Amino acid sequence: MHALRFPKSLCTRASLFSLALVPVLSAQEPRFDNPVLLANREVALTLTAPNGQTYCIDASSDLTQWVALASLPVTAGQVRHTDSGAPWARDRFYVARQVTSSTALTGDHLPAAGGDVVIHPVFHSSLALSWSNQIVYIDPAANSYAGLPKADLILYTHDHADHFVANAIPSLTNAGVRLCASPGVYAKLPSSLRSLTVALSHGATTNLKGIGIEALPAYNLANTPHAKGTNNNGYILTLGGRRLYIAGDTENTPEMLALENIDVAFLPMNQPYTMTVTQAAAAANAFRPKIVYPYHYRNANGSFADLESFKSQIDPRLQVEVRLRKWY
Ligand code: ZN
Ligand code: ZN
Repeated sequence: MHALRFPKSLCTRASLFSLALVPVLSAQEPRFDNPVLLANREVALTLTAPNGQTYCIDASSDLTQWVALASLPVTAGQVRHTDSGAPWARDRFYVARQVTSSTALTGDHLPAAGGDVVIHPVFHSSLALSWSNQIVYIDPAANSYAGLPKADLILYTHDHADHFVANAIPSLTNAGVRLCASPGVYAKLPSSLRSLTVALSHGATTNLKGIGIEALPAYNLANTPHAKGTNNNGYILTLGGRRLYIAGDTENTPEMLALENIDVAFLPMNQPYTMTVTQAAAAANAFRPKIVYPYHYRNANGSFADLESFKSQIDPRLQVEVRLRKWY
């Protein structure tokens, strides 16, 4: 990777300035358009760059310490990214640098020991993570993993068809892959895959590929369609000291509300299967993840949960960053 010339931009609480340090750029050189300070103090960034390349956008509050926000492929000549962490930064500067590895997973970055965790939403309940040269898939039921690096570790929360497709597994994996699953998923795996799999009941923990895994209960408070039992898991993954909570299909159970020290939470909100947006917001307000991703938010009737309503119900004093991403 190498740094590219760029105009830097500065966001303060009151205003937004383009420093425009590079006055003349050729059409082929990447450049930020003027950032837009949104009403909620988030910053909407647009990077104009050649198609087919990938750029990582870094942010800083002091031009000294830089943190990667997201790596994104360029399509239609542009990369768009909303910095939803900006509201709590007094100043914000941005740079873009080209990512030259063609095999790297793109997505949001989370600094961690051993390298950034990269978070790549795939579809509905399905996502991919990378950390320390490992690729992790969560509930890879979607067809949308084509083109992504293959998995070294796969986790399954439960055996519903939007989370688990057994016959897809061989096409998703690297040699040496390990699986972690609820007991209900484990029971449906062929024996060749069971030997690679750790089945976790609630409260049980394991460590696979250097990643800590804890299984948590996931269930509906009325016991349907996800009964309170051992066959529906959520997970806390610990990657490089960061704790990521994958809720699975669940309501805002007492166990969820009691969570502590969560860096990133993935919360489902669709009806009638999981939470309402009000339940999900109440959960985020209770256990205060640093970052929350709504996911699994398509309702049974095909409509989508009101994510702006979810966001508006998060207490701004808690400084919970809400990341709205493309899951469908
Ligand atoms: Zn389910
Ligand atoms: Zn589901």
